[in-house]
Amino acid sequence: MSTTAEPGAPGALAPATLAVAAGRPAREQGGHVNPSVPMNSTYVSRGVVTPDELSYARGDNDAWHPFEEALGALEGGSSILFSSGMAAIAAVFSLVPDGGTLVLPRHAYQAGMVLARQVSERHGVTLRYVDIADTDAVVAALDGADLLLAESPTNPMLEVADLPAVLGAARAKGVRSVVDNTFATPLGQRPLEHGADVVLHSVTKYLAGHSDVVLGALVTRDAALATTLRDHRTLHGAIAGPFETWLALRGLRTLALRFERAQANAAELARRLAEHPEVAEVRHPSLPGDPGHERATAQMNGYGAILGVRPAPRAGTGEVARADAVVDAVRLWLPATSLGGVESMLERRRRWGTEATTVPEDLLRLSVGIEDVEDLWADLDQALRR
Ligand SMILES: *Cc1c(COP(=O)(O)O)cnc(C)c1O
Repeated sequence: MSTTAEPGAPGALAPATLAVAAGRPAREQGGHVNPSVPMNSTYVSRGVVTPDELSYARGDNDAWHPFEEALGALEGGSSILFSSGMAAIAAVFSLVPDGGTLVLPRHAYQAGMVLARQVSERHGVTLRYVDIADTDAVVAALDGADLLLAESPTNPMLEVADLPAVLGAARAKGVRSVVDNTFATPLGQRPLEHGADVVLHSVTKYLAGHSDVVLGALVTRDAALATTLRDHRTLHGAIAGPFETWLALRGLRTLALRFERAQANAAELARRLAEHPEVAEVRHPSLPGDPGHERATAQMNGYGAILGVRPAPRAGTGEVARADAVVDAVRLWLPATSLGGVESMLERRRRWGTEATTVPEDLLRLSVGIEDVEDLWADLDQALRR
């Protein structure tokens, strides 16, 4: 199961190349160019079981190895595939001891926030919510904490953290740090290089990229931590199916092209929407006036492909009804939750009762896909004017 360059090694291949080249079978005459889909619940095994042999498919599964190798190469660490992004979040929350303290963004992926509240209630964990873009507030909240979960850009508010500063402070204070890198992808930023202990992905989104699988992953350079997280996966059974894993790797092969087009489309739509008479506010770090613009320019490669848009108010229509009417009026954009697929999607985030109440009621989250930008624009324009 070997490939190309050592993951993360200096002088290794560029990310766009690794997405294509990593996780291939060995080059043998007549050999496969793609990994197969091995379907096994168990493996031939006798004698004392050692951790590095395949013995039972909940503990380790060779169906995961090609994807794990490719994502590990992209993020520059060792990767652990999970059944979903939420399973990966559950695994990192398990690092917080009973009675410990978890620092987390006030705006972040909402189901993760719901789980944090459960962990808090059941295990006496103190939750410290921060504005992840407010570096001083984050650094102050780290005192005596056990874990920092950072997201940047945040879902759905698109705030940008000063990753080198907050991750460096966490390290200096002995606080473990996790960065949810779902929005930026390893092409946009590589948080392990900024000092994160763990990178988290909803593989469901950009990495798989076709809205057809639910998977998650963690990546770390810390061998002991990797073992702890792998054991969590094994004992909680939070494992991926072989075919879903194969689809995710198939999707990953085109990540660079998809993400490049989606980012370009998003920046163009952000620019046009910011001048649209039926739009009150656009959030996207590509916009020079956006609070995260300078930071994203300094530390990211691109600005991501998620936009936050608030329609301009209309007399006699409530802001929720106005935003819902835009979602109802689109014909090409898909009204659906999720993001990172080839197809453009939008939703009003507060339709989820669990979304943070500081997210505006009428905020639409747009996941910009890879379609022709003029078609995307024409559809949004007619829906906003309706
Ligand atoms: C979707 C998402 C998750 C959760 O991942 P699932 O694969 O849906 O379980 C976590 N973080 C972010 C930023 C997400 O967008």
